[in-house]
Amino acid sequence: EGAPVLEALEAADVRALLPTTSAESNKYRRGVVGIAAGSPRYPGAAVLCTGAALRSGAGAVRFVGEDEVGRGVLADYPEVLVGPGRVQAWVVGPGIGLDDGDRVATALAEQVPVLVDADGLAALPRPVHRAHPTLITPHAGEAARLLGDSWTPERVEEARLGAVRELVARTGCTVLLKGSTTLIAEPGNPTVRVNPTGTPALATAGSGDVLSGLAGGLLATGRSPYDAASVAAWLHGQAARDRLGECPGQQVIAGDLVQALRAAPTA
Ligand code: AMP
Ligand code: MG
Repeated sequence: EGAPVLEALEAADVRALLPTTSAESNKYRRGVVGIAAGSPRYPGAAVLCTGAALRSGAGAVRFVGEDEVGRGVLADYPEVLVGPGRVQAWVVGPGIGLDDGDRVATALAEQVPVLVDADGLAALPRPVHRAHPTLITPHAGEAARLLGDSWTPERVEEARLGAVRELVARTGCTVLLKGSTTLIAEPGNPTVRVNPTGTPALATAGSGDVLSGLAGGLLATGRSPYDAASVAAWLHGQAARDRLGECPGQQVIAGDLVQALRAAPTA
């Protein structure tokens, strides 16, 4: 592959990538996203991921997981479907724990795009062999674990461009590398997108679960993994900035991000 080209995302690019609705839209045509997240130990990840997916433009969100986790999701979001059924994309991983590789394998076996995040990354085959696209959204620590060898979280932070390209090469997936600057890269494309809306205020518990729910919902609308990741990163950062603007000096929490998500760039 050629030398990497960095491309800063702009509001106009993001606007052009947004899902659209028409008179013919219905909830199934808009896309159903399946969320395989959370566990009795980490139920909150399921709630945050599902809440963000509901704001993604997908037509419906389906949660699959333990009953008690599903009850918690429904308590906050009665809009969610619970239990098995057809979906156009899966999100698997947030809060599932490191011992639930079966949920990852099950999602990857489905004939739809899959986003793997967080704990799910520990069970990611390398490379991933699937007929449908796979998007992964590691932070520096998860990226270092995926890369192995002499990679450490510090080295990933220092060599983000090299790290994201190496992750694409080793996994065969589209990669959104989170952190101080968010980079998005895909197989066969030397252009690495850089998201400009990030803010350190995003470095808060559950923030990544919001991002993966949003990106997964966009996948279900038919965006490519590269575009879904790009739009999600933009809107996620914008939500934090909006919230900071409204409540200066106050800590942004992940639930605020779900509330503040906008359907399009405001700038
Ligand atoms: P996670 O670690 O999975 O909860 O995800 C954290 C989220 O916060 C990701 O979207 C990161 O890109 C973002 N983030 C973390 N640290 C920073 C930072 N220093 N500057 C900007 N964004 C950050
Ligand atoms: Mg995370």
